[in-house]
Amino acid sequence: MRFFVAMLSHETNTFSPIRTDRAQFEAHDLRYGGELLETYRGTGTCLGGMIDGAAARDVTLVPSLAATASPAGRVAKEFYAEARARLLADLAAAGTLDGVLLDLHGAMVVEGIDDGEGDLLRDVRAAVGATPIAVTLDFHANVTRAMVEAATLLHGYKTYPHVDMDARGREAVARLAEVAAGRVRPTVAWRQPPMLPPIAGQLTTRGPMRRLYDLAEAMERRPRVLSVSIFAGFPLADIRDAGLSIYVATDGDPALADALADELAAAAWSLRHDFLHTALPVKDAVARALALDGRPVVLADIADNTGGGAAGDTTEILRELLRMGARSATVACVWDPEAARACVAAGAGATVSVAVGGKVDPAHGAPLTVTGRVRTLSDGRFVYKGPMLRGLEGRLGPTAVLDVNDVKIILVSHRRQALDPEMIRFVGIDPAAEKILVVKSSVHYRAAFEPLARAILEVDAPGLSSSNLGRFTFAHVRRPIFPLDELSGD
Ligand SMILES: [Zn+2]
Repeated sequence: MRFFVAMLSHETNTFSPIRTDRAQFEAHDLRYGGELLETYRGTGTCLGGMIDGAAARDVTLVPSLAATASPAGRVAKEFYAEARARLLADLAAAGTLDGVLLDLHGAMVVEGIDDGEGDLLRDVRAAVGATPIAVTLDFHANVTRAMVEAATLLHGYKTYPHVDMDARGREAVARLAEVAAGRVRPTVAWRQPPMLPPIAGQLTTRGPMRRLYDLAEAMERRPRVLSVSIFAGFPLADIRDAGLSIYVATDGDPALADALADELAAAAWSLRHDFLHTALPVKDAVARALALDGRPVVLADIADNTGGGAAGDTTEILRELLRMGARSATVACVWDPEAARACVAAGAGATVSVAVGGKVDPAHGAPLTVTGRVRTLSDGRFVYKGPMLRGLEGRLGPTAVLDVNDVKIILVSHRRQALDPEMIRFVGIDPAAEKILVVKSSVHYRAAFEPLARAILEVDAPGLSSSNLGRFTFAHVRRPIFPLDELSGD
């Protein structure tokens, strides 16, 4: 069999002032053709799983583009148009295909197009006619009717932290092969209860999403059920369809798909209050971290997670650490290309005074001027060790560690979520030996940091990935929706 494969992935935080243009994709990943296979083979990603699954069943992959950028504001319309045109041109040139595999996010918002994936999938469907299309979607996808109608099958990640991306890629290939061979005939149901769960309440290791996925996994063991996805949704993409949704695919049994989707939607609704979340104020969190015995204590800066579209440059926790005279602390990472450049210019070992962070978005805090020693300089290349993104190379761009009285600030030039301790180790700091680790991440850090942390404290600092949705002014999401509106009834 021959399957076309492409990736176009962006999680768009519509509250972010950072426009996601071509340069943002180039800084993260933008590849074409055979390079897609070379880069992603063997990695813990959807594409890695698709490549692996195809090799296991003698499927030939016809690679097109792989484009992803760090979550930020709307995708520039010129870049989206270029990427879509490239993908459609490759599709037209691909010859006879038995299936199409797409690795999409599901919360991509383009300038002028709220439903990026729905728009793309409509065009792909129009181009391939009845050829089956299988799509992997992020757990944070804001699924729309257009996506459901255009795709043959959607496969959402079932974990947050996302540790099953490669498994979903393999599953998508396997199901697509069955559909292409005529062995299964998918019938799907989709439900969208009026829920907008905040990010920090969505983890799947415990809490309401764990309970929902336990139900879903039991459903998947039933005959004729092909797959069940519960999308927690990405609340900070303020579009009509933001929020939680349920997708059930069965083999030729629409009534069963409907019944299971209804059951899960009702279960999600009954658990809606359990998604709500509170974190510690900055001063309390730092005081508690300093008072705790043992190390390291992780202070999770959940509101300034670049992986949720925040700037990654707020300084409130850093400011408090310095005020309290903390020692043996590392802040991973502050996005500040200008400060990193100043450190590079000064050279390793030099003492510099620089204004750090607070440069993107004045509403979330000011720059902090510090004087410290340039401890380490790096080109910012490292390899993820997992459980997430295992084997993939990360590029942070020119990187410097600025040591301010044993508070080490990792200054990076590209925005990447601090989800892997490798992002601390690669600049010569042993995360396990530190007293305090500030990690700018909402939930993903848990996969790799929980096993080494003495304690984890979630901090309610300012930032564009805050789980306090009351801090945002929503204008487009459908209303009423919980928790923005009080909704009664079970
Ligand atoms: Zn996600």
